[in-house]
Amino acid sequence: MIKIKDLHKSYNKLHVLKGIDTTIEKGNIIAIIGPSGSGKSTFLRCINRLEEPTRGHIYIANEDILSDNVDINKIRQKVGMVFQHFNLFPHKTVLENITMAPMKLKNLSKEEAEKKAYSLLEKVGLKDKALVYPNQLSGGQKQRIAIARALAMEPEVMLFDEPTSALDPEMIKEVLDVMRDLAHEGMTMLIVTHELGFAKNVANRIFFMDQGNILEDTTPEELFNNPKHDRTKEFLNKVL
Ligand code: ADP
Ligand code: MG
Repeated sequence: MIKIKDLHKSYNKLHVLKGIDTTIEKGNIIAIIGPSGSGKSTFLRCINRLEEPTRGHIYIANEDILSDNVDINKIRQKVGMVFQHFNLFPHKTVLENITMAPMKLKNLSKEEAEKKAYSLLEKVGLKDKALVYPNQLSGGQKQRIAIARALAMEPEVMLFDEPTSALDPEMIKEVLDVMRDLAHEGMTMLIVTHELGFAKNVANRIFFMDQGNILEDTTPEELFNNPKHDRTKEFLNKVL
């Protein structure tokens, strides 16, 4: 589904991604862990071209998404993204947040977009919040809306960048539960997370990133029980 070849990204002189090669199969649930500054966010942001890679190739369903003539909106339709800080539009209702992009980019009618939005709101357990504004929601609710909004575009892949890091502890579970449901439905997911329990229980693959490379690519069980690299051990010792 996604093939990444020799992916590099520099910010001016700072070389952040140093030649990532990997293949992601449909239905993979990949947890990405690693020290702060190792390039996890940059890696995700390259996959939907929020950042322009400096070098390399990214193919999604056989389409080279870095070629000059791709439609960047099409890529963002295929690749949904959920951020740590939700990024909902504050002056739009929940319903408008969810229906805007499908109406604009997929040419859905208002009725079609709202029907879809209500079914997604039901899925994330927030049907009664359709007409409120984001500032009337808790952090956990905002994040569930952000997930519904991304799903409204019917993406083929979902990227999550620390989706629970900004949440109070009691709200983490409600967001992880939505993500777990999505995983069970077969969505392909890449999830940067500090929730190692979630990584262990839900992911079928885990990347340990360090200094701009994927240092280990294995199953969560193997990574936690039998880490190969000293850097992985060092990291796990700090966080476990
Ligand atoms: P992680 O998500 O693993 O913490 P990031 O991908 O956010 O790592 O960052 C990797 C490195 O790139 C860090 O040193 C960070 O300061 C730097 N960086 C990230 N984004 C930018 C940017 N837009 N401009 C310049 N440097 C950046
Ligand atoms: Mg990050």
